[in-house]
Amino acid sequence: MLREKRRIAFFGGSFDPVHSGHLQMAQAAAEQLRLHRVYFVPAAQNPLKDAAPQATPSHRLEMLRTAIHTERLFSIWEGELGRDGPSYTLQSIEHLERVYPNSHLFWIIGSDQLPGLKYWRGIEKLVHKIGFILVMRPGYQLDWPGIPGLSLFLVNNRLNPVSATEVRTRAGAGLPIEGLVPPAVDSYIRENRLYNAD
Ligand code: ATP
Repeated sequence: MLREKRRIAFFGGSFDPVHSGHLQMAQAAAEQLRLHRVYFVPAAQNPLKDAAPQATPSHRLEMLRTAIHTERLFSIWEGELGRDGPSYTLQSIEHLERVYPNSHLFWIIGSDQLPGLKYWRGIEKLVHKIGFILVMRPGYQLDWPGIPGLSLFLVNNRLNPVSATEVRTRAGAGLPIEGLVPPAVDSYIRENRLYNAD
């Protein structure tokens, strides 16, 4: 009998901190694309972001752990945190395709990332290795990037306007972040006084 190839998605981000938008998009992608597993991939440094993450890698990792521990299909791949310099997706995928041979590999992105996709290092190589799972983000229209060979899988999700910037700003101003992040992440931010939270 032919065995179905495993469908494994990687979800890269700063996760500074992980928020409800991230969790909803991973859930919608897993359900609609019948994924066998979703790995959250915290970046050491996003090559296309000006500022470095505010929270340390270990705090970002701990918040991710506490946010996903009840989700059966979700795990974390820490490979990018162990590398120096910007976190290039191609470098991660060249490693991961050896770890997961005979699998369909995907990378999850929000629609705000679409216009910048053509600037990703080695994108012309990357498109032949993975499919991109696209999740709509409010305020960002679909802006087809016209990259030859690109496979895009569009997820039908409930739009969620939350951003990590909003969470950090609110926490810093002493405003509630309830509902924007899972309760355990809310407590973690306060207990560890992240983002200057009281
Ligand atoms: P920041 O506000 O610090 O820039 P962020 O909220 O965009 O952070 P990231 O960790 O940078 O969070 O995002 C990881 C991925 O999740 C990106 O592909 C981004 O497009 C996507 N994403 C984040 N929030 C949402 C959201 N609310 N809806 C859809 N996609 C999202």
